[in-house]
Amino acid sequence: MIQWPKTNDALGTVNRGNPCESGLCTLCRVDCMGKCETWLSSLKGRKLLYPRDYSFTTAGSANSSHIGVSYNSLRINGYNYGATGLPKGLSNSEDDCIFPNVNIEGEFGQAVKTKFRVPMMTGALGSTFVAAKYWESFATGAALVGIPIVVGENVVGIDKQAEIKNGKIIKAPELDRRVETFLRYYDGYGAIIVQMNVEDTRNGVAEYVIKKFGDKVIIELKWGQGAKCIGGEIQVTSLEYAQFLKKRGYVVDPDPTLPQVQEAFKAGAIKSIARHSRLGYTSLSSEKQVEENFMKAVKYLRKIGYKRISLKTGSYGMEALAMSIKYASDAKLDLLTIDGSGGGTGMSPWNMMETWGVPSILLHAKAYEYAEILRKKGKQVVDMAFAGGLAREDHIFKALALGAPYTKLVCMGRALMIPAYLGSNIEGVLNPAAKTKVSGSWDKLPASVTEMGSTPDELFAGYYDLQKKVGKDEMKNVPLGAVALWTLADKLAAGVQQLMAGARRFTLKAIRRDDIFSANRETEKETGVPFITDAADDKAKKILKG
Ligand code: SF4
Repeated sequence: MIQWPKTNDALGTVNRGNPCESGLCTLCRVDCMGKCETWLSSLKGRKLLYPRDYSFTTAGSANSSHIGVSYNSLRINGYNYGATGLPKGLSNSEDDCIFPNVNIEGEFGQAVKTKFRVPMMTGALGSTFVAAKYWESFATGAALVGIPIVVGENVVGIDKQAEIKNGKIIKAPELDRRVETFLRYYDGYGAIIVQMNVEDTRNGVAEYVIKKFGDKVIIELKWGQGAKCIGGEIQVTSLEYAQFLKKRGYVVDPDPTLPQVQEAFKAGAIKSIARHSRLGYTSLSSEKQVEENFMKAVKYLRKIGYKRISLKTGSYGMEALAMSIKYASDAKLDLLTIDGSGGGTGMSPWNMMETWGVPSILLHAKAYEYAEILRKKGKQVVDMAFAGGLAREDHIFKALALGAPYTKLVCMGRALMIPAYLGSNIEGVLNPAAKTKVSGSWDKLPASVTEMGSTPDELFAGYYDLQKKVGKDEMKNVPLGAVALWTLADKLAAGVQQLMAGARRFTLKAIRRDDIFSANRETEKETGVPFITDAADDKAKKILKG
């Protein structure tokens, strides 16, 4: 097993727990006092692009050996001349071709285009309690940055205040809050996507959302995720709530209506009960039937008024991957999110997370190969988002290049949740009256924070930049979790601009597969991306022999 380093002396970062491929800890805590790269970037912003203590230090990469097949075994290409994809109004002069001028705005979709300011989106944040607790920060931050955010599955089903009559939603206050929070700061960039699984479809989420919000919302059909292959799960610690969920029609385990489970719960031997979702398409036995069912669902969603529809698929094997790309393309969907194993934002069985499904880089490399097959047949391929263990700016660039030109966005789950926790923890200390509302977990600021300052404008590098956007009066309404998300997004955006400038790509559309190398032969074999010294070797030899 590869061990990812816990500390990075160059950046001054330390993981609280054991790091995984993304650079995040295997277990990320809402009360974490730091300080991995994502946590620290949510405060210091683009300063974290550089080694610390400038003018007192020199730095050298520790990443020279690339073991195994992962995103960390891809390297980014750079060129010594040229500039491609210059945005309108930019000449190819050295004065114009500077990294801050790299345009990282983009769009996805078919008939209706959805614009974004940074090529990233959140993972699906559904019925898991952290999603509800920190939603103000997630949604406000996403709207201000201008990136899509996904309301995950089961939000209505677990909402005690929601009213469902004859299997159809009458009232859904939590879902309303999720959508309205985003729309408050929405300014034409980003999107609110509402996901539907089996239970949501039964409950009439699609019908409710279109009636209430019209086509402001993108509706997402959900096939799966990278973290698990049995649908969304949560854990509840109240017997009464578990019984309510059972009544709502969920699979609840252990069964809270059984006397022995109730006794064990009262005795304290069972402390929590899990709520599960159903598997989709269980009554179908052929690929053809899935296609028919899928096309029927899309047709229905269009009939009731949806102009934008997306699909999220998980890290299933190659047949399901091919189905998702083919059907989403044929149905002219707006986005297909392909989530590789093995992280997640909610609850998943740990050993399932460790062992099931196709790891991100393998899944994404195949997605490109399959998309090419469709393109060569003359089909228009659906726009894609790649997800699964991606957290840094180099991950964004590599994923966009690996799936170019089909990949428009990188979907980040756990990474984009960290600023919301951190900002909320700080807000809870600075404004104790708001501590419960913002779900702050600290009583005082830890040393890892006070070494940077003690007020929001001292702590968040992006504070004044965001204040310029929203105005001084409005700034007091912006949760500090959203300020932290803005600050992290600024660092990621600047990092992507730098990598793109180095690759001489000045718009997202100009990014190509040639812009990455495989750093070992195994990665080359699995991804089809040439090994470092094989890439452009023919051109090099032509120069020498010419
Ligand atoms: S924020 Fe999460 S990933 Fe980062 S150090 Fe803390 S626990 Fe680890």
